[in-house]
Amino acid sequence: MINRNVLKKCAAVLLGINMFSLMLTGCSSFNPADQVESLGGKVIQTSTIFAMDTVMELQIYGDAALLNEAQQKITDLENRISVTNSESDIGKLNAACVTEVIDGKNYKSAEISAVTAQIMERALKMCERTDGALDISIYPVVKTWGFTTGEYKVPTDQELSELLKEVDYTKVVLAEDGGKNTICKIPENMQVDLGSVAKGYTSQMLTDYFTESGITSGLINLGGNVQCIGSKPNNDKWKVAIKSPFSDSKSGILGVLEASDVAIITSGGYERFFEEDGKIYWHIIDPDDGRPTDNGIVSVTIVGKDGFLCDALSTALFVKGLDEAISFWQQSDDFDAVFVTEDGTVYVTQGIADSFTLSSEYYNAEKIILTK
Ligand code: ADP
Ligand code: MG
Repeated sequence: MINRNVLKKCAAVLLGINMFSLMLTGCSSFNPADQVESLGGKVIQTSTIFAMDTVMELQIYGDAALLNEAQQKITDLENRISVTNSESDIGKLNAACVTEVIDGKNYKSAEISAVTAQIMERALKMCERTDGALDISIYPVVKTWGFTTGEYKVPTDQELSELLKEVDYTKVVLAEDGGKNTICKIPENMQVDLGSVAKGYTSQMLTDYFTESGITSGLINLGGNVQCIGSKPNNDKWKVAIKSPFSDSKSGILGVLEASDVAIITSGGYERFFEEDGKIYWHIIDPDDGRPTDNGIVSVTIVGKDGFLCDALSTALFVKGLDEAISFWQQSDDFDAVFVTEDGTVYVTQGIADSFTLSSEYYNAEKIILTK
């Protein structure tokens, strides 16, 4: 049974704390360079865009025109991969007709653009690396619970076992079509979704674009998932707040990470959930049983150089639960993490132990430093 206390309905997203502190109450349009400030002699350009169901705040020290280009890149990407847009690569693939039989199974197929193929390929590698804790074919299950539409319901065991028969990322086939496009083939009743990695891919794409354009200082905040470019112009590290997953939190902040040149990506049950008969159901699903995870973990933050990897792992390690998540980290060398369990214990991996500080509200929380 998921503890209600862990849910925080509307948390303030705070980042670069000395710069911004704003409530995510919704924002409808992009405003390039809607705010200009100055720090360390450089000019700060900021903009806000609503895309991928998320308020996105971009802050760079440099040319405001880059923010216009960034907006275009986000829109183009969303148009390619949005699962709810029937014209996107993913929308078309999910709705495609059967074209062939592979291993005795009817397959449908669609041509996908290079960017979708790249995300798909990388996502499939992460599904494999996490042993299927991440599974991009979980979408029909997520949909049946109502997390895509807001028409929430608890499916029957029968419904879930039928749906789970079609969940298996290993059945996704990516094939070259001889030209520059890729054909993606999936079983007739399968539907895929890249939502678990979309924001991480986006923040990494923007980081690469800004960096290649000469930006050495900036902050990308996609609904609480943050990627830092360099440090602040005065060379101080960025201070990035990690949200509290607890509904009774007064400040909304679990702690603050001092960081530079990394992505800091959090998955939390509080982000999307519903309550029925006193029980909470959230949007991260265990592909083993098709149900919202209920393993004691209430928040996973992944810190690393690669935004895509961080996003994939924030979802996957949430699914794995604490013990498996810790041993996964111990066998890896490309990320650090903060895990929070429903009893309020905070686990911090050794690589960020010195740069992560619990907020004054959680100062007395038990903090366990994980070592390899
Ligand atoms: P968010 O996008 O809300 O910040 P995540 O990155 O953790 O959070 O992604 C959660 C989304 O991924 C869910 O809304 C759902 O669409 C999808 N999802 C849920 N469980 C899984 C899973 N086990 N594997 C892949 N995708 C999942
Ligand atoms: Mg994720």
